Amino acid sequence: MTQFENLTPEQLVQKDRENVWHHLMQHQVFQTQEPVIMVEGKGCTVKDIRGKEYLDAASGGVWCVNVGYGQDSIAEAVYEQLKQLPFYALTAGNVPAILLAEKVTSLLPGLQKVFFSNSGSEANEKAFKMSRQYFRQKYPQKDKYKILYRQRDYHGTTLAALSATGQSERKTGYGPMAPGFVGDLPPAYCYRCHYGKSYPGCNLECAHALEDIIKAEREDTVAAVILEPITAGGGVILPVSEYYGIIEEICHKYEVLLIFDEVVNGFGRTGKWFGHQHWDVDPDMITAAKGMASSYIPLSATITKQYIFEQFLSDPSDKMSYFRDISTYGGSLAAFAAGRENIRLIEEQKLCENSAAMGEVLLDGLKELESLPIVGEVRGKGLFVGVELVEDKKTKTPVSETFMGKVAAEASKQGVLFGRTNRSIPGHNNIVTIAPALVVTKDEINRMVSTLKDILVSLSK
Ligand code: PMP
Repeated sequence: MTQFENLTPEQLVQKDRENVWHHLMQHQVFQTQEPVIMVEGKGCTVKDIRGKEYLDAASGGVWCVNVGYGQDSIAEAVYEQLKQLPFYALTAGNVPAILLAEKVTSLLPGLQKVFFSNSGSEANEKAFKMSRQYFRQKYPQKDKYKILYRQRDYHGTTLAALSATGQSERKTGYGPMAPGFVGDLPPAYCYRCHYGKSYPGCNLECAHALEDIIKAEREDTVAAVILEPITAGGGVILPVSEYYGIIEEICHKYEVLLIFDEVVNGFGRTGKWFGHQHWDVDPDMITAAKGMASSYIPLSATITKQYIFEQFLSDPSDKMSYFRDISTYGGSLAAFAAGRENIRLIEEQKLCENSAAMGEVLLDGLKELESLPIVGEVRGKGLFVGVELVEDKKTKTPVSETFMGKVAAEASKQGVLFGRTNRSIPGHNNIVTIAPALVVTKDEINRMVSTLKDILVSLSK
């Protein structure tokens, strides 16, 4: 093989081992195992350096290549924009930013202003800063700054986003966390109800808990609550239909901003443009990243209501009252061009519709696995489905990390790449995720389902 800078696969593997620090990986495994090195992709298929093809059921490993691989028009849009004008900071305007912002807000009735940045974490950081400054300007006599978050939700890797993350295991070793983040809200996780109840026989204690937390913290100190509409990496957790109505009512009652983290849910992943649109709920802000440019290039955004933006205009005599924030590469014109083309493709190729339709095929196929002794529950929406594996259906004891490793390794051997929740988090890493690109076909879905079924049947013997 000569196309890789005249390096053989063996040489590249060697150089990888010597120089690359992989994300979220225990590098010990590379002492005995070769790192997989990806080189190209088309649709839902990726190919590694040895020419092996994989059906990618994880959209790039972390659920983000929404339009699939090989959508050349995104590459062309990026190329054209780089030639015309590669960069100018968003202190000035530029055409692709204007057109992308207009398009994004047209998909989000009620939301109006788009603040661009580069990653999901960064978009969430902006949301926290906007919330705090908004209330400090609106009520100078109060100190409404706390950000509430829900257990099992993930909001990012930077220290404030991590502080707002409800997966305590991810924080181990990195403390102290930022002050002012309160994570007492239990997950809306019916399969493992925090209150030991079962829906619909409960009173949605998991939603009403928000009110108790706000009261305990004192409403005058609470600025916002951030939630993933459907918790993604923390367990594919879908709140029941009444849940967000209750959350929204409580937010209104105590003037707490409702922020939805749509980093995974957004841009068609769950069968609608945005995850929160499965509920009748009107957020004050949303954050988006991964699917916004299908990760062909880094792009993220914090999108707010007009009245939040206007608070930053309210006192022209106060030289500190504007949003004093910037993100250098939140001004990448090529990223805006990619985002626009990505949205155009989602519309043209009817990918939200395909996500909903193929999602049903996927869920129906996987639901049959619930008859297996190790499948506790199958749940999901659109093309984001999780298969929760347990050692025992009565005790719901999660299968071990080793077992999950075996499922992934066997699937990879058979040429299918599944994702998993809570990767590397003992006790929670027991959910296989199937979240292919939104261009996925029925045949590909059937292959994903049958591969997982065969593996689970053979491993549970
Ligand atoms: N929010 C959610 C829901 C995520 O899943 C992620 C990343 N997996 C982030 C935020 C952080 O995004 P990034 O890695 O781009 O900073």
